[in-house]
Amino acid sequence: MSKFTIKELMRKNIVELTPYSSARNEFTGDAKVFLDANESALDFLGNLGRNRYPDPSHKKLKAKIAEVMELPQEKLVVGNGSDEMIDLLFRIFCVPGRDKVLIVEPTYGAYSVFAAINDIEVSTCHLQGDYSLDLRSLETIFKLMQNSTPEEGMHKLLFLCSPNNPTGNSFPLSEVVAIANKFPGITVVDEAYVEFSTKPSAVTLLEKCPRLVVLRTLSKGWALANARVGLALAPPAIVEAMHHVKYPYNLSGVAQDIAMEVLSQKEAMEENVATVKRERSRMAKELATFKFVEKVFPSDANFLLVRVNDPDAIYNYLRERGIIIRNRSNLRGCYGSLRITIGTEEENNLVLEALKEMEGRDG
Ligand code: PMP
Repeated sequence: MSKFTIKELMRKNIVELTPYSSARNEFTGDAKVFLDANESALDFLGNLGRNRYPDPSHKKLKAKIAEVMELPQEKLVVGNGSDEMIDLLFRIFCVPGRDKVLIVEPTYGAYSVFAAINDIEVSTCHLQGDYSLDLRSLETIFKLMQNSTPEEGMHKLLFLCSPNNPTGNSFPLSEVVAIANKFPGITVVDEAYVEFSTKPSAVTLLEKCPRLVVLRTLSKGWALANARVGLALAPPAIVEAMHHVKYPYNLSGVAQDIAMEVLSQKEAMEENVATVKRERSRMAKELATFKFVEKVFPSDANFLLVRVNDPDAIYNYLRERGIIIRNRSNLRGCYGSLRITIGTEEENNLVLEALKEMEGRDG
């Protein structure tokens, strides 16, 4: 339970904001002549169809997302990647220089970067050795937070990434509910990799947990990282604030159109995800056979975290052969580990061949 309503948790200036109202917001019906938005009336660039501003409220795209991804449309906010959703939450809830956020580490690095950009202090709670949530420590932290108030500054956001980047594991929903109901601020569950997981999504918790926000993206399973389309599912007060704070035309017409197209190909997406999962199993098995591999962590995502005996040497060896992976070995909780994205079968084979060559050379 929280002593505070969502609006009490928000920055006062955001609650009191008179949002910008664009021409495309004010008139949305059919008309013959649109001279309300100072656009170029001429589409002289070979009829690209890009001379008009895009729909600022993404109505068609939201309806499509709701239908295809089976998500509640009234809870949806769409934007420029889930990164925009994260940044919006900071700007809506966190008073620079006063508020704090709680981050469960090791995790996606952008949360703490956005915190730094917004001059927000970060408190961390570390995952346990097996990358499960440390519920006891979280309980203690929540108890310590009990007396803090929005007036004095408090922990406004808690980030849970599930499946987690870079550890690859998901957190049980029962634990997410317990946390979301005890944390006095807004719990944000980042489900960027959920398509690769068989575990249930936290979207089902939105009715039960009044201060929960779930993030999704088309960048991973939907193979659309280039177009930058992410989404948030949130309670009405947060949906409204996100619409007020986002850039009026935060998602380009190009991105909205491509997203519509991709969402019409759900079967192809599912095939892509199935292929990634097959390759993930194969890579996990193959990688475990190398002498220098100490552990391949189970993954619900499109990457594998692999602990090795000499991460820098392996990283550099692959890099010299034009293969770039992510060296996470200096990250607390991931010491000695490399994160390898699952590529195409050919790309994965190149990784395996290079590693075999390395092992042969070493041996
Ligand atoms: N969340 C997590 C956990 C991620 O790993 C990433 C990108 N690597 C993002 C969000 C950002 O995704 P998007 O492309 O939707 O901004």
